[in-house]
Amino acid sequence: MALFATHSAEETREIGKNFARTLNPGTLICFEGDLGAGKTTFIQGLLEELGAEKPFVSPTFILMKQYEIASPTESGIKFIYHADAYRLGSKEFREIGFEEWIIDPQGVILLEWPERIAELLPEKYTTVKIESVSETERKIEILEK
Ligand code: ADP
Ligand code: MG
Repeated sequence: MALFATHSAEETREIGKNFARTLNPGTLICFEGDLGAGKTTFIQGLLEELGAEKPFVSPTFILMKQYEIASPTESGIKFIYHADAYRLGSKEFREIGFEEWIIDPQGVILLEWPERIAELLPEKYTTVKIESVSETERKIEILEK
């Protein structure tokens, strides 16, 4: 478990970058936190560090964005699936391919609103939980399970 406190969006992006360096392919990362907590901000840092190509769009409206990394990371990450389950249920998530992303040995999944599809989650995943403390302060907790 790791715990961080940040005082700006830039600092949260930095935490996302540092976390990206520790990532292995085949990992599911679940993001918890209210609207505006900083999940997408953290993910922007992470995507940048992994070498994903911009634009980094929020998947709230497009449901899922897949990034193919031009030169895979040393750890072997080639695909990133960024998805948001806020508007979808388990059935729709299955339909757009969640179970295939999970078994991609070169993939990393970044999932916002995982509680919406709790029944589809595998036994092991990492949780990044972000809480607003004040307008610019955030508490970030990273838990591996
Ligand atoms: P979410 O994806 O959780 O809904 P976003 O990352 O889209 O949240 O938005 C977070 C908002 O909070 C942004 O406007 C960002 O600039 C602002 N913000 C202020 N302080 C911080 C901080 N310490 N960490 C992250 N975001 C912050
Ligand atoms: Mg978001």
